[in-house]
Amino acid sequence: MEYKLGVVGSPIEHSLSPEIHNIFAQQLNIKISYEKYLVNTGELSNFCNQFFDNPNALGLNVTLPLKREVLELDANKSNIVNKIHSANTIKKDNKSLYLHSTDGQGLVNDLNKKNISIKDKKILILGAGGAAASIIPAISDSKPGCIEIANRSEENAKKLIGMFGEFVSLHEYKLGPDVIINCSSAGHDSSVPEFFNNLKISNDCILYDLSYGSPHKPTRNWFKKYSQYIYSGEGMLVEQAALSFEYWFGKKPNTKNINKEIL
Ligand code: NDP
Repeated sequence: MEYKLGVVGSPIEHSLSPEIHNIFAQQLNIKISYEKYLVNTGELSNFCNQFFDNPNALGLNVTLPLKREVLELDANKSNIVNKIHSANTIKKDNKSLYLHSTDGQGLVNDLNKKNISIKDKKILILGAGGAAASIIPAISDSKPGCIEIANRSEENAKKLIGMFGEFVSLHEYKLGPDVIINCSSAGHDSSVPEFFNNLKISNDCILYDLSYGSPHKPTRNWFKKYSQYIYSGEGMLVEQAALSFEYWFGKKPNTKNINKEIL
């Protein structure tokens, strides 16, 4: 059987998910048809009704701006989805839908692959949107020394902190972090947020930017004035995709060298 899969969001043209999943399917000798679908806010429920009506439909990846709207579907939610209130993967199994999020574990898997240790480290997360929320539980499972948040809107940072309790706190621009994880989407407007300039950054500080491609460039150029340890989000993209694939098929694809093949 050829399994029907896809990614939904808006915009969607730029998505690399079809290429990544087609490589995984080839590796594991599974037949898939994986398409990009432009689905706007408010349209997801109708789209899913039609998509999953097809008996070969197995799953969808969900990207911006639908990662919260997806929770409105009549679906079973994994523990992590209940914690972070967003999902990036839908699976149909035995006529029921299941929601999961692979972003946080995808980041941690890529950090491990790059030998970037989180344990006992001072972690600063820049940004307080969906991606920041998705990675906090996975980062905190790696037992960092502390997790702080800095964001353009302090109100949104405080809301995020409120979701996770004591182990996450508001950044006060005193601490020099060991690892900065940029979850701000400012790079999509080719900008670097003003508040970045108030950060204290040592020359051995590591920057992991969730953005990749051209939105990564402004942050990269700004950070390289301070430190040379800079990583962009392609690795996380591939790792979260591998975890979605494993969620659908129960088989783990090999992520080695995928970046070279698609990026
Ligand atoms: P959201 O829209 O949920 O959050 C965006 C965040 O960026 C908010 O904190 C917002 O601040 C901040 N922001 C946006 N524009 C600006 C600006 N001009 N100046 C300062 N701050 C700004 O987006 P996500 O959290 O879902 O995504 C964030 C980034 O992570 C995106 O670049 C996305 O592509 C990337 N990503 C990468 C993944 C990967 O696999 N590599 C997976 C998921 C996301 P405020 O609260 O003040 O509005």
